[in-house]
Amino acid sequence: MICVETLNITGMLKNKTLARAISDAGWGEFLRQLAYKADWAGRQLIQVSQWLPSSKTCHHCGHKTKKLPLSQRHWHCNGCGQAIDRDINAARNIETAGLAGVAC
Ligand SMILES: [Zn+2]
Repeated sequence: MICVETLNITGMLKNKTLARAISDAGWGEFLRQLAYKADWAGRQLIQVSQWLPSSKTCHHCGHKTKKLPLSQRHWHCNGCGQAIDRDINAARNIETAGLAGVAC
């Protein structure tokens, strides 16, 4: 099973800060190929809501930080004190949400 976050790619391309990075990464094409390959390999591709606060929610304790600008890649949780890597934390939250959706 592969869990990804649904992204509003069209909307993100309108953001001058993100547009080049999103275009360079070919994110839409990546997702299309990932879905194709997952299906071909008999795997399940789960897309969780783009509105899930995956970056702002501590995967250790569930505490949600109020502000987290995109430029801030690491933060400390006020709930449990963990040092958190933004991307790894988001990936763990997306996986948890994906697994929860499958379990329902
Ligand atoms: Zn925490």
